Amino acid sequence: MVKVTVIGSSSIDLVVTAERRPDKGETILGESFKTVPGGKGANQAVAAARLGAEVFMVGCVGEDGFGKEILDNFKENGVLTDYVEPVTHSESGTAHITLAEGDNSIIVVKGANNHVTPEFVGKALDVIRTSDIVLIQQEIPEETVEYVSELCHAHHVPLLLNPAPSRPISKDVIAKAAYLTPNELEAAVLFQNKDIHEALAENPNKLFITEGKNGVRYHDGEQEVLVPTYTVEAVDTTGAGDTFNAAFAVALAEGQGLKEAVRFANRAASLSVTKFGAQGGMPTRTEVEGSL
Ligand code: ATP
Repeated sequence: MVKVTVIGSSSIDLVVTAERRPDKGETILGESFKTVPGGKGANQAVAAARLGAEVFMVGCVGEDGFGKEILDNFKENGVLTDYVEPVTHSESGTAHITLAEGDNSIIVVKGANNHVTPEFVGKALDVIRTSDIVLIQQEIPEETVEYVSELCHAHHVPLLLNPAPSRPISKDVIAKAAYLTPNELEAAVLFQNKDIHEALAENPNKLFITEGKNGVRYHDGEQEVLVPTYTVEAVDTTGAGDTFNAAFAVALAEGQGLKEAVRFANRAASLSVTKFGAQGGMPTRTEVEGSL
């Protein structure tokens, strides 16, 4: 069993469906309400655990009911929570989502995710040092991503940085990460609108750009390669990127070749879009292998 550490955000999504959005100062009646676990870090941890890895989550929750829900969800999915800490005087991360008129509007409140600081992550040094791979995203403070890139580099642990949501990243972090997995929009921010084929050629076997239903593009050192994903009936693509990253990390930690690891991750991500919800569609190992 490979050991994967995920350092990142966890939150509860509060989803309201309504016929339309209220105007400023207006109150309207909605149609339905549900809460679902989310946050890129948590989503990737759950996806990796379903794929059979030993997964340690490093993150923070609030000392509130949502924090308990987030922890319960980790436990139900077999994610180890030794390094998930409730933060006093902070609310859990939340995403307030309105689904109306065929589109969503979202307000994210980071809450306890702001407390995933370098100092906090330092407490997990032992587990980070002994991991087969570390997975991180950008819903936590920038200095934490920088700190983790240094830590992983110093201890020779491969770091997979999923640069989402996008923000500029220092050249040093790019150099220290073993793998980078932006989508096309994130890649444009990351490489400041440089020609994407040039960026790929300058980062062979490191930069993997996810292109939704087209698959994933990278440069293998000799040529650019597009690994197509699988054709499925997409129901909800939320969390496709998170499933891809988790599956890619698990496959790499297991020692699969790069192309094989991309294929495995494409398969897992394509299965995830056939069901509703970010975590709802994340497949198990058996489901991925049964369909490869
Ligand atoms: P999201 O933000 O929706 O989680 P993303 O923008 O980070 O996703 P995408 O590039 O849209 O990432 O998707 C990630 C991967 O998921 C793709 O490389 C592909 O393997 C798979 N995928 C996404 N959409 C589809 C689809 N419609 N059909 C098959 N596979 C898909």
